[in-house]
Amino acid sequence: MLAASSAEAFTGSAFTGVTPKLRNTAIATRAAKSHGPDMSLVLVTGASRGIGKAIALELGKRGANVVVNYAGSKDAAEAVAKEIEGMGVKAMAIQADTSKQDEVIAMYKTIDSSFDEPISAVINNAGITRDTLVLRMKYDDWKAVIDVNLAGVFLCSQEAAKRMLKKKAGRIINISSVVGQIGNPGQANYAAAKGGVLGMTKAMAKEFATRGVTVNSVCPGFIESDMTAELNAEYMEEVKKMIPLGRLGYASEVAGMCAFLALDPACNYVTGHSFNVDGGIAIGQ
Ligand code: NAP
Repeated sequence: MLAASSAEAFTGSAFTGVTPKLRNTAIATRAAKSHGPDMSLVLVTGASRGIGKAIALELGKRGANVVVNYAGSKDAAEAVAKEIEGMGVKAMAIQADTSKQDEVIAMYKTIDSSFDEPISAVINNAGITRDTLVLRMKYDDWKAVIDVNLAGVFLCSQEAAKRMLKKKAGRIINISSVVGQIGNPGQANYAAAKGGVLGMTKAMAKEFATRGVTVNSVCPGFIESDMTAELNAEYMEEVKKMIPLGRLGYASEVAGMCAFLALDPACNYVTGHSFNVDGGIAIGQ
């Protein structure tokens, strides 16, 4: 997959006048040297369900080895790992609450000792909501959302960076949200966390760039998942009216963007940016 995509980028003048076989070998060699991560080993946090599961499956489909992190859904996470192994790559489910530093450190140690290759990308996807209006929001609801959706991204990125900076290659992809860009009533905690992720992405991109590690974020809009299933039907009809493409997104659509950022050689030169997969909702009406 990596070599095939790179080959398309290397069909220019450097290879004119050589035999197709030699040309293909040269293309493959240059392609192998050009992409950031070597053999891909990608950690997806919160991959037992929803968007994270779709990302993990897409990565497996594209030939990456995958670590399926989860908080409590052991059976579901192991089923995802099994499905990925059925694609002919390695996969492993690992429990860790990403908001807890000791659990994150232990997860990375397990990854280090279980795979031959170092981690090449992390998709920081684990997230929760505790929605309510500001005047009713309990401090615990504020803190729980900040801990998982913001501190968790920091902790998992920090451990990933320790390994990637040494290797001078790696990709960190943070799942933010359009809510971090445009706000949403009832989600002050979530908006703060997701907006924080956008700022942190840019700071980390600047810190890590000289060592070949890229950091980007993805902002999904309203995507069909357990998270949006909790929202009331009347509200969702109103939401759909605000989406230029007129429908909710699919987890597979977010997964495609994440797999592109994590694996495709075209993204070697992309860092510090956020990519919306939102049906156009963030551009407003
Ligand atoms: P979801 O269906 O509720 O799934 C959440 C996933 O995160 C589960 O795998 C869950 O694991 C895991 N998780 C939760 N807390 C965790 C923790 N402390 N440590 C490790 N894993 C944890 O959510 P989703 O809709 O797929 O959302 C995924 C991401 O996309 C989130 O960051 C969310 O904010 C973002 N997002 C979603 C939408 C949307 O419309 N759905 C829109 C924008 C952004 P367990 O199953 O083990 O609990």
